[in-house]
Amino acid sequence: MNIFMLFPEGKQKALTLSYDDGVFQDIRFMRIIDKYGLKCTFNINTGCFSETDAEKRGRLSEKQALELYSDSGHEVAVHAVSHPFLEELPTHIANQEIISDRKKIEELFGTVCRGMAYPFGTYSDDVVELLRLNGIAYSRTAKATGGFKIPSDWLRLNPTCHHKDARLFEYCDSFLEDDRYCRPKLFYLWGHTYEFDDKDNWDIIEKFAEKMGGRDNIWYAVNIDIYDYVMAYNRLIFSADGHKVYNPSAIPVWFSCNKETVKVNPGETVMF
Ligand SMILES: [Zn+2]
Repeated sequence: MNIFMLFPEGKQKALTLSYDDGVFQDIRFMRIIDKYGLKCTFNINTGCFSETDAEKRGRLSEKQALELYSDSGHEVAVHAVSHPFLEELPTHIANQEIISDRKKIEELFGTVCRGMAYPFGTYSDDVVELLRLNGIAYSRTAKATGGFKIPSDWLRLNPTCHHKDARLFEYCDSFLEDDRYCRPKLFYLWGHTYEFDDKDNWDIIEKFAEKMGGRDNIWYAVNIDIYDYVMAYNRLIFSADGHKVYNPSAIPVWFSCNKETVKVNPGETVMF
């Protein structure tokens, strides 16, 4: 018997993006990814907003951030108030950096914010514990895996790669291969949008979005949606013989069993 998680609508693949620091170039970036239906989580430092509206470069002002990210269909997540090395700070100050950023994001955007990316990609076990205590569900590192495994340690969430990775399009091809009845795959891309200006290589993200976007068999989702979905899948309760399953969560969940797709609605028990 082979049982594999599937993403919503029975899709085997998911793609998510994660871009940091809330900078002016996010505006151009969002136009590109929106054109192809990609979804991104923007990790921002609410203590670093520009005093005046950014033009061409630098951090967005609070007003610009609100205009850009609100109701955009993308996620805004924590990146600490002032972009510190969290593991170097006294614990209570690191704590403030996390919870204050979370609160400010929730006030500004009217959301419940549970996502994060580590400033500089660095952390310690104490910082990870702080995140857990502050209700952070996942936090992205800067450690590329080159792979598509569903994360298990969500507070040390390793991305597939940065957009400057020389093997980026090799990874894309491998991700797009037809391996329908195998394990689910998650492609997780990260970076900073100002790097496209610095390196004059906007063509990378244009090409990536065009190649990976608009496909029926890929779920395009922000980080927290993927986290919530995987958690709902993990809560499925299977009978001992593996032919009956109950979904105690509030969202429908899909999986494949011996190449058959099974959908289990919230609160439903299904025989398969
Ligand atoms: Zn950063």
